[in-house]
Amino acid sequence: MSLSPALPQIVTLSPSSPSRSAKSGATGDGPGQPGSWSRSFPVPSGDSPLSAYFEALFAAYGPQHWWPGRSRFEIILGAILTQNTSWKNVERAIANLRARKLLSPLAIQRVSAARLSAAIRPAGYFRQKTQTLKTFVAFLYSRYGGSLDRLFATPTRILREQLLGLRGIGPETADSILLYAGKHPVFVVDAYARRILERHGLADPRAKYEQLRAVFEWALPHDRRLFNEFHALIVETGKLHCRKSNPACATCPLAKFLPAAGGSREASPASPVTPP
Ligand code: SF4
Repeated sequence: MSLSPALPQIVTLSPSSPSRSAKSGATGDGPGQPGSWSRSFPVPSGDSPLSAYFEALFAAYGPQHWWPGRSRFEIILGAILTQNTSWKNVERAIANLRARKLLSPLAIQRVSAARLSAAIRPAGYFRQKTQTLKTFVAFLYSRYGGSLDRLFATPTRILREQLLGLRGIGPETADSILLYAGKHPVFVVDAYARRILERHGLADPRAKYEQLRAVFEWALPHDRRLFNEFHALIVETGKLHCRKSNPACATCPLAKFLPAAGGSREASPASPVTPP
């Protein structure tokens, strides 16, 4: 993987990370039992604070079993529909698509825009998302004959560029499709990941998506199962603790890593590291 030469300027990742709070390879018993989860991905290197973050979250929450979708195409639909809305609304939209038998590329290709819009209306921005779904399916047929196997057999870098070239698909959506539907090893950066890094003094608010993605991919073993689990754990942290306002730090598994708690950090909040 190529790393941005500016990486050290936008993040502060101390090589002396805190000791891990979880043990790997044990049998899982349930949430809230640190060190008791089984897993099937590499143990992250102890050289990065992110490794310790992952261990703490995995010990607290356990496996998240993502992505919640019954098929690769349903995952793709979900990744597009979840833009700027809650997952609950996505579920309602997907239920509508299922009821109308619209959960296949061919069905989305053939259905009228008006009917598709009506089905996905609960997910919001339904006209825009209708266009994005139509655009994706048109791309799938024109470049890959409608085959998801052929689509995902494409090298990661090339497919990522192709997806990013589609109107309505930004980096988070493209990476969600690549990771969760295609099992490509890319890290999905979302608003929660950004917020956590910023609040812990590990990233500058001006850091770009690609820089933050590079941070995770640089700091962790390049394993799609690990990336899958870590992103899902970050989302759980964001929902349960790291809210936009009034974060519940006192009960958060990452509280011990806050700079005020002596967490792994080299720069202080008063002197944030900055992108070039
Ligand atoms: S809730 Fe607090 S401790 Fe938890 S990730 Fe957010 S800032 Fe860190």
